[in-house]
Amino acid sequence: MTIRRLPPTLVNQIAAGEVIERPASAVKELVENAIDAGATDIDIALEGGGAQLIRVRDNGVGITRAELPLAVERHATSKLMGEDLLAIHYLGFRGEALPSIGSVARLAITSRARGAADGWRILVEAGQVGEVTPAAITEGTLIEVRELFYAVPARLKFLKTARSELHQVVDVIERLAMAHPDIRFRLSHDGRSLRDFPVVTGDWFAAGPVRLEKILGRGLAANIVPVEGERDGLKVSGFAGLPTYHRATSQAQYLFVNRRPVRDRLLLGVVRAAYQDLLARDRHPVVALFLEVPTEAVDVNVHPAKAEVRFRDAQAVRGLLLGSLKAALHSVSQRAATTVADSALAAFTPEALPQQRHAAMQHAFYDSAPPASLWRQAPLMPFAPAARGSLARAAAPPDTEPVAEEFPLGAAIAQLHQTYIVAQTREGLVIIDQHAAHERLMYEKFKASMEREGVARQALLIPEPVELEEAALERLMARQEEWAMLGLVLEAFGDRALLVREIPALLGDTDVAGLVRDLADDLALYETGMALADRLEAILSTMACHGSVRAGRRLTREEMNALLRQMEATPYSGQCNHGRPTYVALKRSEIEKLFGRR
Ligand code: ADP
Ligand code: MG
Repeated sequence: MTIRRLPPTLVNQIAAGEVIERPASAVKELVENAIDAGATDIDIALEGGGAQLIRVRDNGVGITRAELPLAVERHATSKLMGEDLLAIHYLGFRGEALPSIGSVARLAITSRARGAADGWRILVEAGQVGEVTPAAITEGTLIEVRELFYAVPARLKFLKTARSELHQVVDVIERLAMAHPDIRFRLSHDGRSLRDFPVVTGDWFAAGPVRLEKILGRGLAANIVPVEGERDGLKVSGFAGLPTYHRATSQAQYLFVNRRPVRDRLLLGVVRAAYQDLLARDRHPVVALFLEVPTEAVDVNVHPAKAEVRFRDAQAVRGLLLGSLKAALHSVSQRAATTVADSALAAFTPEALPQQRHAAMQHAFYDSAPPASLWRQAPLMPFAPAARGSLARAAAPPDTEPVAEEFPLGAAIAQLHQTYIVAQTREGLVIIDQHAAHERLMYEKFKASMEREGVARQALLIPEPVELEEAALERLMARQEEWAMLGLVLEAFGDRALLVREIPALLGDTDVAGLVRDLADDLALYETGMALADRLEAILSTMACHGSVRAGRRLTREEMNALLRQMEATPYSGQCNHGRPTYVALKRSEIEKLFGRR
């Protein structure tokens, strides 16, 4: 066996295997270079999902004639000043991207340095570097990458369809665009414009949401809250989506460390933890969070594509982020997403009713179109205008107290289908799901009382036997002490049943056997691979569900109003433990829209 030095092109191709995985990673490197060059306008054009052509044009500082050959040389960079790998102030620093791309594709760099009289071009094809030749170009840089991976056919096979490669490019651009509202980004594919994010001026808290809406869609700004926090030289700022504004994937979670987009596991985990009891397990919040840390407190050089980072003090980062997120969510914990009202409105709007059905209904009533005279003759109200006032007064129930409309959730007017409470607010009307709302109240009460003094218990007058299958019985009895802590005192009762002696006092009069069976199910579901804290919350949540008023129970007006007042005083009452909204609000103006008054 002989040891030999690998030729430079092969070395670059090996590096390319790590840095340039697919068109999206090439686009990322090129656009980051443009950002590093101080560009304010970046235009990206692709063909064939980027596999045929990637073209990035920027108006940054450009590259001088003398430096063009260096730019494509491995480990040559203008971005590291001293020898300290932690003092990184640019997105790039490894000096690897251009030589890697040049080793696996046909690369053309055309550039005119700021203030220079002419432009110059250099070509690299499968690692072969050409001469620097004059070229016509205005200030800035144009990078063209043709036939990515043509020099390494094995890698070509790993490319997916143009559509799916394009999808990833769009994601890369959107993440970078989110961090730089002050830069214009344009993206086109096969001659069609796909994205155009104009420059947004102003400080980040003003510009961020504008750019965010451009990326995530209209209506977003009304469903996010600002997040802000600072501790020991670490800073976080950004936006968190309301828990009722959730998505099916974590795709809409944008995380940045010193303005560098990352998909860092630690940070994603913190986001999950912050929302954990506000959202169903399979739903994901929308967030855009920017972490600023001193460059020496974070190592960005642990991942070739720089997608993951390592913090010197991970615990401090976690604490700051979790605390700030929770504080932000707490501040709006009683707000439900406007999308909820929007979809309610859409459901109410007559347009939602198919035209034919509308016609068919008229038909059924009148056999044919109603005679015009009928419309004229039949008044909408069976009484004359003069009588209206007195009738309204007479119709109002005698117990109407001075209307509690100043409260955010207003005054309960009625119960619908023994399930929903309708309340009138100064702004409009609110419909509350009584079970969902009460469930959240119970859950928050449980949590609070657990924190204070453990759960208060209440002895059953007659201990209740509950029959269970053996496996379930075993699972439950194995945790007898934990249950006692939660206020549930169980006792063995033969090998087929157990005896419930005490239950959490908060539950009041509840279906004991049903509760015990649900808890056994919970255990079977969560026992493996769930942290104790998570399991506790799941269990509390099951208990809360049992302790809350069911749909189908008639409530008096006092009870309804009491529920509304409690909701206003309870954190996170905008959604139940499963992430469903507990109420929807319709503004008066929206109601008026429904009836064509506006
Ligand atoms: P890195 O970004 O890690 O320094 P690259 O291989 O991506 O390494 O780029 C090498 C060098 O080429 C950069 O350090 C920079 O000086 C120069 N360069 C690359 N792209 C541009 C650009 N769009 N505008 C100006 N200079 C650029
Ligand atoms: Mg670079």
